[in-house]
Amino acid sequence: MTRLIFLGPPGAGKGTQAQELAKTHAIPHISTGDILRVAVSQKTDLGLKAGAYMDAGDLVPDALIMEMVRDRLLQADTLSGWLLDGFPRTVAQATFLSRLLQEINQSCDSVINFDVPDEMLVERLLARGRKDDNEDVIRNRLEVYRRQTAPLIDFYQSQQLLVTVDGSQSIEEVAAQLTNAIQ
Ligand code: AMP
Repeated sequence: MTRLIFLGPPGAGKGTQAQELAKTHAIPHISTGDILRVAVSQKTDLGLKAGAYMDAGDLVPDALIMEMVRDRLLQADTLSGWLLDGFPRTVAQATFLSRLLQEINQSCDSVINFDVPDEMLVERLLARGRKDDNEDVIRNRLEVYRRQTAPLIDFYQSQQLLVTVDGSQSIEEVAAQLTNAIQ
């Protein structure tokens, strides 16, 4: 049983590593960004509400994200474990998740903190070229990360759940660090 949270700034490589790890551990890869992008493309209620925040590089309001994650974690495939990628991103979301997990009698094994210097993040994001990867929006997303998400490093450190990996290394090297970290 593997239950993990991937924490880190945009461009840190969370998604790439999450895809592989979820495959090898046969657990669902739950990316809130991916779920939101599907909602936007399908023009669902959630998508219509979330789109403008995402385009600006701002966080989608907590209440919308919490409802979305609650629905997802109550689906049957999560009984074999899960990997949360890009959630939680605020202290309020993290507190919500702790309560939700308590309620469904689950606990998180580890929170993996992807550490990558800012210059490298900007470089990687510009190379990726997603809709929200232009320079102004990138700058805002990094600022939002620092202000709203980085406090979660202390939050999970104080719960002794935090493991930091050096995300500046190659994909293979980061994967090897992860394998060590979650044993
Ligand atoms: P990501 O693919 O994780 O980089 O997410 C893309 C965008 O989706 C972010 O810039 C936010 O606008 C939104 N988003 C994804 N996850 C969350 C979250 N946990 N809380 C708030 N907004 C989120």
